[in-house]
Amino acid sequence: MFYIGCHLSVSGGYLHMAKEAASIGANTFQYFTRNPRGFSSKEPSPEDVAGMVKFIEENGFHAPLAHAPYTYNPASKDAHIREYTAEAMAKELRFLESIPGALYNFHPGCHVGQGIEAGVGFIADMLNAIVLPGQNTTVLLETMAGKGSEIGSRFEELREIIDRVDEDKRTKIGVCLDTCHVSDAGYDIAADPDAVFTEFDKTVGLERLRAIHTNDSKNPVGAHKDRHEKIGDGYLGIEAFRRLVNHEAIRHLPFYLETPCDLEGYAGEIALLKEMRQEI
Ligand code: FE
Ligand code: FE
Ligand code: ZN
Repeated sequence: MFYIGCHLSVSGGYLHMAKEAASIGANTFQYFTRNPRGFSSKEPSPEDVAGMVKFIEENGFHAPLAHAPYTYNPASKDAHIREYTAEAMAKELRFLESIPGALYNFHPGCHVGQGIEAGVGFIADMLNAIVLPGQNTTVLLETMAGKGSEIGSRFEELREIIDRVDEDKRTKIGVCLDTCHVSDAGYDIAADPDAVFTEFDKTVGLERLRAIHTNDSKNPVGAHKDRHEKIGDGYLGIEAFRRLVNHEAIRHLPFYLETPCDLEGYAGEIALLKEMRQEI
């Protein structure tokens, strides 16, 4: 099964999002758990969420990917920001228990001058504080572009965070690989995906990889910029995506577009990726 979706707005509710995804040919979707700029939104209604769960089961969807707001920073040197982040994420994780198989993606954070080592420690501490061994949701660390003091642009940093999570919670931790970000970070996923997945497997383990953010990049390999481009219009190029949607290391995973597109643009990119996908 080819699971393909895009980023949608949660503002119309959960069931609405699932129906919107279906209407553009998607069979999964991603959404921000809250407005990315951090304004608080009203609590989702249990009926709406239950309606979405029923809809995605009946329509053979992969469970949706919830994306934490960019305002969270578990690696901050400010204890108040770390506490705020941990509380907000814990609350979101409790809510996600009502969605079977849910994925929850977050940016590991920025160490803002205190160094990667300190930041990595704070991120692992937070995961140990908020992840419950028996929970249903898998928490995903996103691979980052390495802009500013971002942690998680090197696979070794993700490995270090995961290693510091308590053993009984580690099975609930995974990785979401963003194709724009890894290219920006210096991994040439367009030219040599085999080498990048081999490197990932050696460092983190492919079994940790749970989702793919499917974006072209406005900048060349190693640029550390994090500017997403439409599929085929950037430095990765259309042939890279043909290889990626069919690559044996990741073809079973859900793919999520986060390209600069409106709904119609997403429908076109989903159709394009489906056309390039070869079923085996
Ligand atoms: Fe992200
Ligand atoms: Fe992403
Ligand atoms: Zn990005």
